[in-house]
Amino acid sequence: DDRIAHISSTIRVIPDFPKPGIMFQDITTMLLDPVAFKDSIDLFVERYKDKDISVVAGVEARGFIFGPPIALAIGAKFVPMRKPNKLPGAVISEEYSLEYGTDIMEMHVGAVEVGERTLVIDDLIATGGTLVAAINLLERVGANVVECACVIELPDLKGRDRLGDKPLFVLFSRY
Ligand code: 5GP
Repeated sequence: DDRIAHISSTIRVIPDFPKPGIMFQDITTMLLDPVAFKDSIDLFVERYKDKDISVVAGVEARGFIFGPPIALAIGAKFVPMRKPNKLPGAVISEEYSLEYGTDIMEMHVGAVEVGERTLVIDDLIATGGTLVAAINLLERVGANVVECACVIELPDLKGRDRLGDKPLFVLFSRY
């Protein structure tokens, strides 16, 4: 698909951010290109429009950029998966491990009903820990997580393996 090469070309790589040795994939430069941004949304919408998905769950922060336009286009609700102490209502929380230490992800109780077909969206999968936390939270409230989707996969970090048999769809990989 010609659209993918163009999208990839708009994503800037920033060496040594946020720490030495990290090659940070900066999707904000894709957002400056309306064709690339729209094509990225269209590619997800083409994949998910006829899959009976009623929930798009987006992971803070960059899942909040891609999730809502996809949700609107496929007629699903958008559910934010947030950093701790941001959501005002009753929440369910999931702790997960990072390279150093742990973090917490939260979701509003009642946002997703038992059995709802759910897509999890984020900009990038590295080790997979973030997506695993999102899947666990959603499954604890009875959601049927049908797939995870990201713009970019870093295959060297083997995040896909941590998802087990949960399907992962990405637009492209960076090595
Ligand atoms: P993981 O949990 O898979 O190790 O890390 C993925 C999470 O970290 C995602 O929420 C993603 O937004 C963020 N992340 C890690 N590395 C990068 C990067 O190089 N670029 C961007 N845009 N996000 C990253």
